[in-house]
Amino acid sequence: MSSFKVIPLKAGTGGNHLRRPFSCEIKRSKRKTLALYISHQHVQVRCPYQASRAEVMEFVRSNQQWIEQRLYEECLLDKEALRIEKGGKIFYRARELTIEYKEGRKKRVLINGDRFIIQGHKLNARKAKQQVEDFLIDKASDYILPRARGLARYLGVDGKIREIRLRKTKSKWGHCTSHGILQYNWLIMLAPYSIIDYMITHEVCHLLHMDHSKRYWKLVESICPDYEYYVQWLKEHEHRFWFD
Ligand SMILES: [Zn+2]
Repeated sequence: MSSFKVIPLKAGTGGNHLRRPFSCEIKRSKRKTLALYISHQHVQVRCPYQASRAEVMEFVRSNQQWIEQRLYEECLLDKEALRIEKGGKIFYRARELTIEYKEGRKKRVLINGDRFIIQGHKLNARKAKQQVEDFLIDKASDYILPRARGLARYLGVDGKIREIRLRKTKSKWGHCTSHGILQYNWLIMLAPYSIIDYMITHEVCHLLHMDHSKRYWKLVESICPDYEYYVQWLKEHEHRFWFD
C-alpha cells in the first residue's frame, strides 16, 4: 500500500481548517472511479488499478479543501470522545453523567442520578477502564445475545446463526457474514435501548438479505418502524462512545 503527504492549503493557526500536513493512503482495487474515505484522521483514496499516481494526486488536490474541513470537524468530535477518568463525562443512554470513583472491595458500576459510579479497590484509570469494559460486555451478553436469537427465531432464521460475537471494533457497530456469524460492538451498550434494538435488528435481518437493498430495509422497518431516526441518532452521537 502506498501513501503520500499533502501540505495544507493555508498555514498558521485559527479558522475552521486543518493546518497540518496529512497523509493520503492509496488503495487500489477493481473499482472504476476515484473516491475519498476519511475515518479517524485517516485519509484514503480508493482508485482503479490503472489510475496513475499523478491522477490520484490531482484528485486529492481538487478535493483538498473538503478533506481539510472534514479532518478538522473530526478533530472537534474526537474531543468529545469518551475518556474513562475521575470527573470525566460519559454519555450513557443519551444522558451526560459524571464519572466518580468509589472505594470498595466489590467491583461494580452504579448509576445514581447523573453520576456514573465506578466502585473498586484502589482504582486508577487503567482499572476503572477495565471495569467499565467488563460492565458493558456483561450487559451486552445478557441483552444482545438472547434478543438476537429471539428475533432470529421469530423470523424463522435461527438455524442460520452459527455464532454471535461481541467485539470492540473501531469503525463498526455490527457485522453479519454469509456463514451466519453475527458480530456486535459491545460499546453499543452505552446507547439507549431503542438504538441497541435497532442494531440487533440490523444484523439479524442480514440473515435474510445480505445487502442493504429495498427489501432488506423493508424488513428492518417491519420490526423497527423508526429505524431511520435511530440511524441518524447513531451518526450524530457515536463518536461519544468510543474509548481506547
Ligand atoms: Zn448492514
